Amino acid sequence: MTLKTPDEYYESIQRELNLYMFGEKIKQFWMHPIILPSINAVKKIYELAQKEEYKDIMTTVSHLTGEIINRFTHIHQSTDDLIKKVQMQRLLGQHTACCFQRCVGFDTANALYSVTFEMDKKYGTNYHERFKEYWIEVQNQDLMVDGAMTDPKGDRSKRPSQQHDPDVFVHVTEQNDDGIIIRGAKIHQTGFVNSHRAIIMPTLALREGEAQYAVCFGVDTNAKGITIIYGRQSCDTRKLEEGKLDVGNYKYGGQEAFVIFDDVFIPNKNIFMNGEIKFSGELVNRFAGFHRQSYGGCKVGVGDVIIGAAALIAQYNGTDTASHVRDKIVEMIHLNETLYSSGIACSALGYPRDAGNYEMDMLLANVCKQNVTRFPYEIGRIAEDIAGGLICTLPSEADFTSEEVGPLLKKYLTTSNDVCPEDRYKLLRFIECMSMGVAAPSYKTESMHGAGSPQAQRIMISRQADMDKKIKFIKEILDLE
Ligand code: SF4
Ligand code: FE
Repeated sequence: MTLKTPDEYYESIQRELNLYMFGEKIKQFWMHPIILPSINAVKKIYELAQKEEYKDIMTTVSHLTGEIINRFTHIHQSTDDLIKKVQMQRLLGQHTACCFQRCVGFDTANALYSVTFEMDKKYGTNYHERFKEYWIEVQNQDLMVDGAMTDPKGDRSKRPSQQHDPDVFVHVTEQNDDGIIIRGAKIHQTGFVNSHRAIIMPTLALREGEAQYAVCFGVDTNAKGITIIYGRQSCDTRKLEEGKLDVGNYKYGGQEAFVIFDDVFIPNKNIFMNGEIKFSGELVNRFAGFHRQSYGGCKVGVGDVIIGAAALIAQYNGTDTASHVRDKIVEMIHLNETLYSSGIACSALGYPRDAGNYEMDMLLANVCKQNVTRFPYEIGRIAEDIAGGLICTLPSEADFTSEEVGPLLKKYLTTSNDVCPEDRYKLLRFIECMSMGVAAPSYKTESMHGAGSPQAQRIMISRQADMDKKIKFIKEILDLE
C-alpha cells in the first residue's frame, strides 16, 4: 500500500532540520506548539485519504505504476482529474480552514512533467525519465514535496547577473561529473518544514548569459547546507500561551519559511533543468497556472468555513433573521462560488500536453486567481460586519476562565439561554483569527500574493486574451476594413 497513515506521516518527518525561530535553533520541530497546527493540517490530507467516503476525491491510480496513490502526488491524466483536484482542495479547506501546504509540490510536478518532456525533445536530454524516477519514489512513499519558486530578487529593476549580490537569485556555482553546487535562497516557502522533499525552480524567464540561474532540482529538506528560518504570523505567540482559545483556529494553520541554500550539492539524478534558459519561463508559467487553479479550490473551502462562522455568530447574536444579514450571507456565498466557478472552469477546459498529462486553461486559471486577490477580502469584511466589534475588543481566555472576572464576562457575553458563552467566545476568536490573527496571512495576504501577485495575472490575462480575434469579430459584424 502506497498510502501513509497520518501517524506514519508524522513519524516520517521527525528528523532534525537546520531550523531557526525567534533567533534560536529549533530541535524536534514536530513538537513545537507554533509548528504543530501546520503539521495537523497536513495530517488531515493523509487522514481523509484513508476514508472510504473520500476515496474517489483523495486517491487515484498512478499512470506511472498502476498503484493507488494520494491525489496530491498524481500527474493529471484527464479534465476529470483537474476538476477532482480543485474539489479535493475545497474539501481540505473545509476541514482545516487554513493552508494545508501540499499543493505547491503537486503543482510543480505537473508543470515539470510536460516541461521536461519538451526539453528532452528539443535538446536530447533525459530530464523526463529522471523526473519520472524521482516522482515514482514520491508516489510510492506518499511523500510531501514542497515546490520553491520565489527568490529574494534583490533590486527588481535589475537582471540576476546585475545584482549587488549574485546569491539573491538561486544559481549553480560549480558543476562536475557527479552533479552541481547550489547557492541562493527561496522565500515564502509554504510547508517546507513539514515536507520530506522540495523541488526548486527558477523564479523568472531567463535570457542569454543567465544559464546558471536556469536550474531546477529535487532536494531533501534536511540536506546539508540548507538553513530554514521560520516565518512569523500575526499573533503567533498566542500558540505559546497556556490556553488555546485565543488562537482562534487552534487546531490547524499554514506556515512559511525563508530557505537558504549554502553550497548544497545536488546529484545528477535529481537535476531536472540545468541551463535551458528557453524553458525557464515556460516552467514558471505552467507552475503558476496550476497553482492559480489551486486557489479556486483551497480558498473556497476556507471561505465555506468563514461563511458558516458568520451565519452561526448571527444566530448566537440574534441577528440571523434580519434581512440585511441574510443578504450579506448570500453575498458571501455568491463571491465564494464565483471563485469556485473559475477553478472548475479552468479545469473543465483543460487539454493534454505532448507529454500526455493534462493542463488547465491558462486564461481562466489567471482569471480565477485574479478574483482570489479580491473576493476573500470582501468575504472577510462581511464576516467582520456580521460578527460585530467584539472580535477585536474581547478580553483574553485567561480572563474568561478566571475565578474573579470570568463569571462577569460570561454574564455579559451571554446572548440567550440557548447560547453557551464559551461557544460564542470561540466563534468570535475564530473570526478574529481569520480576519487579523494567525490565519489572516493564509486567507488574505496569501490570496493576494500566493501563486503570483495580482499584476502577474493581469500580464497573463492580456497575453492569453487573443485581442486580434475580438477585433475581428466587430470588424466582421460592421463590415469594417
Ligand atoms: Fe494549497 Fe492553497 Fe496552501 Fe497554496 S495556499 S499550498 S493552493 S492550500
Ligand atoms: Fe499558497
